[in-house]
Amino acid sequence: MRLTLVRPNLGDYRSSDAMPPLAMGILAARAPGWDVSFFDEKAEELPEDDRPDLAALSVETFTAHRAYAVADAYRTRGVPVVMGGYHPTFLPDEALQHADAVIVGDAEGAWERLLDDFRVGRLQRRYGGGNETPLTDYRLERSIYRGKRYAPVELVQFGRGCRFACDFCSIHSFYGTSLRVRPLDGLISEIESLPANRLLFFVDDNLFGRKSDLLALLAALEPLHRRWCCQISIDVARDEALLDRMQAAGCRLVIIGFESLNPESLEQMGKGWNQVSGSYQRVVRALHGRGIGIYGTFVFGYDADTRDSMARTLDFALESRLEIANFNPLTPTPCSALYDRLLGEGRLLSPQWWLDPGYRYGDAIFAPRGMRADELVDGVFEARKRFYSWRSIGLRVLDGEVPFSPFHLGMTTVGNLISRREIYKKQHRLLGT
Ligand code: SF4
Repeated sequence: MRLTLVRPNLGDYRSSDAMPPLAMGILAARAPGWDVSFFDEKAEELPEDDRPDLAALSVETFTAHRAYAVADAYRTRGVPVVMGGYHPTFLPDEALQHADAVIVGDAEGAWERLLDDFRVGRLQRRYGGGNETPLTDYRLERSIYRGKRYAPVELVQFGRGCRFACDFCSIHSFYGTSLRVRPLDGLISEIESLPANRLLFFVDDNLFGRKSDLLALLAALEPLHRRWCCQISIDVARDEALLDRMQAAGCRLVIIGFESLNPESLEQMGKGWNQVSGSYQRVVRALHGRGIGIYGTFVFGYDADTRDSMARTLDFALESRLEIANFNPLTPTPCSALYDRLLGEGRLLSPQWWLDPGYRYGDAIFAPRGMRADELVDGVFEARKRFYSWRSIGLRVLDGEVPFSPFHLGMTTVGNLISRREIYKKQHRLLGT
């Protein structure tokens, strides 16, 4: 039987920052006996005449509008559609208006049951994945990524979940308090099978889950002499010895959610702990001094945020010579604590903004308190444009704080060029079209 896996984009266009989606590789690995095709709209056009026995779509809130259109087209051609991912997990009834079945939560286990039921003509409407199931049977089929235009990194996963619960983040709503890691032998074998010269990217929501797990991972990575990057919470910088271990194990870039310079905003988002490692300047020095680049992320729109605080945040990112940065308008996604709060306060401009035909990427979704909505939109875009101006890229790439190495130069240059292209490509783009 033929199975098509689809990752929709925000709309019908290609992205320059596409990376191979691990979720699709997991589904492919757990569909023995199926003839599997995979189409990634971020990297290629979707075929218009595909007629498999079953189509499975991975859906995020930003891609929901487009995913529903793709799903409707498959169903018009007589192809049953199933959906999974964050958005259908949070809003299964909405997804079921465009799908024959949804998976709520992790795919493993639920996906196999769904395929078995489909084979015997007994497809149910909902399948519940267990977000407590140990990751002992983690499998990935990477052959489905072959030939697609992806960024030059290899994605790997050690664990799932995060021990924090920032109010804007969906991770806690999805995984609850569960923290799970894979057995190390399977992960290390997988890494050893990947091209030795490629940067590894740990997609874990926060690689610093349990310290004991992180230390075990670092010990296993060190002899491999690989270079890698990861998403990690800032409290890792409290521990100088741990940073030394990360450096020795090959860490070359960390994605850190600084989010705000304003303690009041940090408290409001449930991230007051972001200050436990001392000043942000100290954190930057501790990482840069070890040759570890920083991809900083920031969010604007909390009640204490103003146009001035946005400008100060941009100055910090520039003066700190962050290798890469992302400035985001506060985005209430369904089922997050933030969404529920803003909905309760009557401040959402369009409660189902992800389906709103007038919503453009970058638009304000709610009424901020410290500025007008259009000031928030303009301030975010201005920060992105200034951080990725040619002058700023040149300064940060050629005169950064990390000691020069061809690898760091290459990684930072590619990262900046891709980010610059994407901010102009996405801004003001209607979702779904
Ligand atoms: S630390 Fe990061 S992954 Fe964890 S809840 Fe906060 S934003 Fe989400």
